[in-house]
Amino acid sequence: MHIVVCIKQVPDSAQIRVHPVTNTIMRQGVPTIINPFDLFALEEALRLRDRFGGEVTVLTMGPPMAEDSLRKALTFGADRAVLLTDRCFAGSDTLATSYALAAAICKIGETWGVPDFVFTGKQTIDGDTAQVGPGIAKRLGLNQLTYVSRIVEVEPSSGRLLVQRRAEGGVQELESRLPALITMLEGTNDIRRGSLDDALRAARAEIVTWNAAAAGIADLSPCGLRGSPTVVKSVFAPKPRAEKAEQIATAGTAPDEVADAAVAEIFRRLPGLEAELLS
Ligand SMILES: Cc1cc2nc3c(=O)[nH]c(=O)nc-3n(C[C@H](O)[C@H](O)[C@H](O)COP(=O)(O)OP(=O)(O)OC[C@H]3O[C@@H](n4cnc5c(N)ncnc54)[C@H](O)[C@@H]3O)c2cc1C
Repeated sequence: MHIVVCIKQVPDSAQIRVHPVTNTIMRQGVPTIINPFDLFALEEALRLRDRFGGEVTVLTMGPPMAEDSLRKALTFGADRAVLLTDRCFAGSDTLATSYALAAAICKIGETWGVPDFVFTGKQTIDGDTAQVGPGIAKRLGLNQLTYVSRIVEVEPSSGRLLVQRRAEGGVQELESRLPALITMLEGTNDIRRGSLDDALRAARAEIVTWNAAAAGIADLSPCGLRGSPTVVKSVFAPKPRAEKAEQIATAGTAPDEVADAAVAEIFRRLPGLEAELLS
């Protein structure tokens, strides 16, 4: 079984600073981490490999320093790491990112075998759009299973796949077929520590580094800024609200009595609200 896991290097979220003029993230001097959601995807991929055999390839598109995240992924036990890096990818929105990653996954398939699974995290903590996984699935014609909380069954011989996904108001169980792209939910597993052997191997491993040409991307027009119809016009923190929450003193001590008294007081202060809610 061949599994590709897309990971993104992101700024450590507590320290994100946005450039006041360009509205882009200022990365200089900011510590980076693997997007935390992607670790759940990686662990799920490693579990499948441990169960069924095969290989896990981790893939990232980013600047040369994104190699650090790939090396970290190798310490957890990934078998191979591919860095897609080229100036022409700079400024990519989700459309351009999914184009480049989909092309790289095709190249990975030609080089080491067509993947049965492609994993991504649910979303990133910097861009936050949750669009890249579905974008890759659409471009590669993969069955798309988003917000997956559990992989229930996999039958590699028949290609049958059963997963649970978080849906509005409950959990859906979906049957699908391989090859599939899964966007993995947070909190679904614990990333392993990785062995000493993996750490030593990761330190020495070759990170396969491709530019656009090496990834087989001949048409550069859908790449980078040129291929990105989305423009982030401004990024700002919401203004703190001036008004403070008011404490309403009520009669009674039992929780039900307090709640009833508070609701009665709110309805008294906002005439018409009760009728509006009941209509
Ligand atoms: C503050 C801010 C706002 C932005 N807003 C937008 C916007 O509104 N629209 C837009 O198109 N772009 C936006 N971007 C750009 C966005 O960062 C890029 O498009 C980015 O390449 C992917 O989008 P994302 O981070 O939202 O990924 P998501 O779609 O949230 O990522 C889902 C998963 O895809 C995989 N993945 C994502 N990027 C990579 C990568 N480079 N390499 C490997 N795997 C990856 C990861 O597994 C990740 O968990 C914004 C960026 C910033 C910093």
